[in-house]
Amino acid sequence: MFKLFVKAASLGVIALWSFATQAAPVLEPVKVAEGLYALVGPLGQRDAANAGDNATFGAVVTPEGVILIDSGAGDAGAKRIDEALRTVTNQPVRWVINTGSQDHRWLGNAWFAARGARIIALQSTVKVEQAQAAQEMQSLAMQFGQGAETFRPLSSPAPLPGDQASLRLGGVEVELRHFGTGHFPGDAVVWLPAQRIAFAGDLVFVDRMLGVLDNGSRVDQWARSFQTFAATLKPDLIVPGHGRPCTLAQAQAQTGDYLDWLVREVKPAAENMDDLETTVNRLDAATPEAFRKLANADQLNRKNINRAFLEFQL
Ligand SMILES: [Zn+2]
Repeated sequence: MFKLFVKAASLGVIALWSFATQAAPVLEPVKVAEGLYALVGPLGQRDAANAGDNATFGAVVTPEGVILIDSGAGDAGAKRIDEALRTVTNQPVRWVINTGSQDHRWLGNAWFAARGARIIALQSTVKVEQAQAAQEMQSLAMQFGQGAETFRPLSSPAPLPGDQASLRLGGVEVELRHFGTGHFPGDAVVWLPAQRIAFAGDLVFVDRMLGVLDNGSRVDQWARSFQTFAATLKPDLIVPGHGRPCTLAQAQAQTGDYLDWLVREVKPAAENMDDLETTVNRLDAATPEAFRKLANADQLNRKNINRAFLEFQL
């Protein structure tokens, strides 16, 4: 009797748990054109529930399989991406393209490779993946309370040289373009010339404020790379690295203009050797409403001003 009760109770827990996970899927598939999807993740921080997939991914469904743009933060993140894909297609993932080296762009590669996918990336991206792998796995392991060895870093075994590559995958023409350092050095963009759609990876953040990191990138370089990307491709639609699919105008307003604002306001203060804390307080108070209303602005804006100041001091 007791045993039965325990069994029923645990079944109840499982039913509740699966109801909860069904009610709040981590990634929302958004169709942007025929066969093209954004998989939109949460705008907040990494946690065990989102498995580090607090980002936006892309998918191109071809008759020969899916081209996946970025693979999630480890096996758990890769599984969440695959679950989201299963709601829109039966095609397996045949190709994974990495647009960047941040954890959620590539630490799910091994999971998809084990299921037959070919991993594709530019040499400049792979170089940064490999330099960052240990630190990224350590930091995810700490956040999720699991061993760092449970992550399996796998970079493209045959990275593509140069700043640009043209590929034909499943009959679809796909370009991989590097416009300079973005959120990370080595960030790249997947460009579909026929559809004029860019999967911009971490070069573009919308709906939420971008984060300036101490990772070898610089705010002024990112600002320039964004300008080059926008002027060169002039995409009709962008699937950003964070946030929902957007126009170039929205990407300009929420990524390009914010980076330009940081450069314009912080650089003279740093070069003038103004006091750091005074500068952060002054510019935080003077931040335009258009940037302040972005998600995460309260956690990131002061840090971004601070980080940019230190970069301009170098
Ligand atoms: Zn990211």
